[in-house]
Amino acid sequence: MGVRMKHFNEQISKAKTIAITGHIHPDGDCIGSCLALKQYILDNYSGKKVDVYLESISTEFRFLSHAQEIITESKDDENYDLFFVLDCGSEDRYEPFATMVRCAKILIGIDHHISNDGFGDFYKIDPQASATCEVLCQIFEEDKISKECAQCLYTGIVHDTGVFKHSNTTRKTMEYAGMLLEKGVSTTKIIDETFYQKTFVQNQLLGKALLQSQLYAEGQIIVSNLSEQDFEELHASTSDSDGIIDQLRITKGVEAAIFLYPIENGYKVSMRSNEKVNVSEIAKAHGGGGHIRAAGCSMKGTLKDIQSTIISEITEQL
Ligand code: 5GP
Ligand code: MN
Repeated sequence: MGVRMKHFNEQISKAKTIAITGHIHPDGDCIGSCLALKQYILDNYSGKKVDVYLESISTEFRFLSHAQEIITESKDDENYDLFFVLDCGSEDRYEPFATMVRCAKILIGIDHHISNDGFGDFYKIDPQASATCEVLCQIFEEDKISKECAQCLYTGIVHDTGVFKHSNTTRKTMEYAGMLLEKGVSTTKIIDETFYQKTFVQNQLLGKALLQSQLYAEGQIIVSNLSEQDFEELHASTSDSDGIIDQLRITKGVEAAIFLYPIENGYKVSMRSNEKVNVSEIAKAHGGGGHIRAAGCSMKGTLKDIQSTIISEITEQL
């Protein structure tokens, strides 16, 4: 059942205690949408307790309102009246807080992943929307969006569109971004400090991944990976590798990019495509998901086997 405005307002009005969560390894859209929703509820509904649960967030996002109050550990004895799950295509994506979500009286999902088949009592999924923050722009009443809320929404849109450059950027995306600009958001700060700025270590990791990259299918597929040793040598964590896949994708002549790093029993696989390949389909077939041009999954096996499986699946589509 799709959540309509009526349900959104009705459910928030009815609830005394509200929790919000997003996906594991939270990115700009996940953090932005969770904090925007918290801010919107606090701004427009009185007497609500609103808690945001997410895994630890990167330091560059900590200037967003209520970011300091994010709870990183599940409180399994808390029973919320209403639980929002944002920017999550499937239940395994909010696994650290799944017990709490299950105990909530009402669950609402808001998302834009094409791989999301819908879960919860109510949900709104718009695969045409560039970001979950764009879906929130559709739901929220414009004159009730504060500057603090707008900062969070703008951050999410900036991140999921790669600063308005990915093919998911539509006229509507730009119109919402324009509306948020008028609320007084700090565009330069958000774009430079949360998107483009990299630490020295992140740049070194990127350099390593680029040096180790290889071309397949006559230069149409680019593949790179970082080993546990690569991360150790640079004292880097896996989250420092965010963004590497986007640099691989813009290699001249490339249609699809694959980036892998080790996880327990296998590899985390990130995929991006330009015009021809539906990477969401491939990720979904391996238990993951995402969007047509950006998707991911976790796979068991050796690096060599996983790489050749994904390369041959992409080649079939070329
Ligand atoms: P990234 O490559 O940046 O980790 O993810 C790209 C997109 O694919 C994101 O929208 C992300 O939510 C989705 N995605 C990445 N990994 C997984 C996964 O393991 N499962 C699902 N369902 N989606 C994923
Ligand atoms: Mn998103």
